[in-house]
Amino acid sequence: MPGSSCDNCAIDDDDLVAVRRVYRIPETWDTPASEQVLDEIEYWCVSCWTQYPNTTPPT
Ligand SMILES: [Zn+2]
Repeated sequence: MPGSSCDNCAIDDDDLVAVRRVYRIPETWDTPASEQVLDEIEYWCVSCWTQYPNTTPPT
């Protein structure tokens, strides 16, 4: 596991969770709402993991 700080908020934390970030794209007048999942694995602290949209990578 790279480093020991959260890739999202940069807090030092030994208890990081491997996630893939999810971008929520809001609905517009001509496009329905959608989600984009990034391929890159990031390591987040539990606080970010519970607060921001993400999905856990396949193992
Ligand atoms: Zn964090």
